[in-house]
Amino acid sequence: MEKHILSKSTFMSGVQCKKRLYLHKNHEKFGIKRDKLTAQQEAVFATGTAVGELAQQLFPGGVDCTPESYYDFGPSLELTKQSIADVKTVIYEAAFQYDQVLVALDILVKKDDGWHAYEVKSTNDTKPQHIHDATLQYWVMTNAGLNIQTINILHFNKEYVRRGELNIEELFTWDDVTEQVEEILPTIRPEVKACKAVLQEPEIPVQDIGPHCSKPYDCDFRGHCWKHVPEYSVLNLTNPRGKQWDLYLQGIMKTTDIPEGYPLSTAQQYQVQADKTGESFIDSDAIAAFTSQLTYPLYFMDFETIQSAIPIYDETRPYQMAVFQYSVHIQKEEGGTVEHKEYLADPKDPNLRKTVAQRLIDELGSTGSVIVYNNSFEGPRLNELARDYPELAAKLQAIADRIVDLAVPFRQRAYYTSEMRGRHSIKTVLPALVPELSYKDLVIQEGGTASLTFLQMVQRQFDGDEEKTREALIKYCELDTLAMVKILKELDNNIA
Ligand code: SF4
Repeated sequence: MEKHILSKSTFMSGVQCKKRLYLHKNHEKFGIKRDKLTAQQEAVFATGTAVGELAQQLFPGGVDCTPESYYDFGPSLELTKQSIADVKTVIYEAAFQYDQVLVALDILVKKDDGWHAYEVKSTNDTKPQHIHDATLQYWVMTNAGLNIQTINILHFNKEYVRRGELNIEELFTWDDVTEQVEEILPTIRPEVKACKAVLQEPEIPVQDIGPHCSKPYDCDFRGHCWKHVPEYSVLNLTNPRGKQWDLYLQGIMKTTDIPEGYPLSTAQQYQVQADKTGESFIDSDAIAAFTSQLTYPLYFMDFETIQSAIPIYDETRPYQMAVFQYSVHIQKEEGGTVEHKEYLADPKDPNLRKTVAQRLIDELGSTGSVIVYNNSFEGPRLNELARDYPELAAKLQAIADRIVDLAVPFRQRAYYTSEMRGRHSIKTVLPALVPELSYKDLVIQEGGTASLTFLQMVQRQFDGDEEKTREALIKYCELDTLAMVKILKELDNNIA
């Protein structure tokens, strides 16, 4: 059989961006480097593999057609063909080729009424891009001669709650997407033709950057294509809603070059004005209104969480965040000293979430404001803990009711400086208001690394110095709440 030109992943690359497809096949020839995978991206790929293997348990005892070498699918194609001829009822990684396009289906199942195809996705629902790639598979499989009754996206059941051993039957569910697939089926042949034509081109196709660089997937050639984009540009316009690309296509790269009269939202006007003039916007009355709602003692609180696709703990769902660490700075009275409390869970604790919840209840007392930065994170975690541990619900709810969100004055632009670059996250507000305090000297500098590190400890995959890393996790979380103490002080200093 002729060697394939396209696979499912290269086809999807080509649908996203013709240059991406071309570079995927030819980057070495042009001396172009692919972006290195981040630790988080590697973890996502590893999750995908683990979820695929777990889903096979729904249809046990299948013939596995996974190739020994991904450079040679010949044996997989043969084994698939033979398994279908022998009417094996379950086939994993069933390989098919048609018109020089190769696909490998996660699970193929023979039922009384015929063959049913299942593509496994480690998501909580079916996304449009899943239907697109299932359509390519359907196109190849049916043209290769297989009569398929249904094609399905098999994903997590987001309602599943782990209690004891994982229940595979309940953990997964699937959507029959046959109708949607048949609807877009006529688009596949021209798309395949267009992808093949791109690969015939002698030079890299001309394609400017745009929203397609991260939709539906982050492209791994951004390091190459985005070289001309400065670290800060119109692409960093706050809540841009397409205006960033409109400006970029007009040849405007710097926010300071945005012409007067260009339609901008209020927050965007603050950003552009601050960039052009260097002036800061400080609304003392709005800041005073914000701080007047605070009641002592003040508890500055921050959580760190892990998020596992496959639920690890009892009472958790797929992708549910589990709080494993908190830091609290406590100020009992105005101008008083600040005390620090923290907790970092034992990764072996099977009741880690409940342990954290109980300690938080003891730590946070029953009166005074609980100050967080961006309550869309801490608030829902408290609500989930309350839902999952009804015996603690009233006390956790009482804590949630005391929350004041320190991000509000920055989100509402009661305080804005050009250093914030259109954002209001604590990582941009802190250096603007309190430059002497920085995350830069820390071993762990952001939440994603903290989360992945602890998850590796939980999954016994961490091979670093656990004691030193626990110290680094504590220091990172502590800085988040110390930063809030300092930011509030700076706000207070700006009340007229
Ligand atoms: S970075 Fe954007 S333009 Fe460049 S190859 Fe990727 S998707 Fe295409």
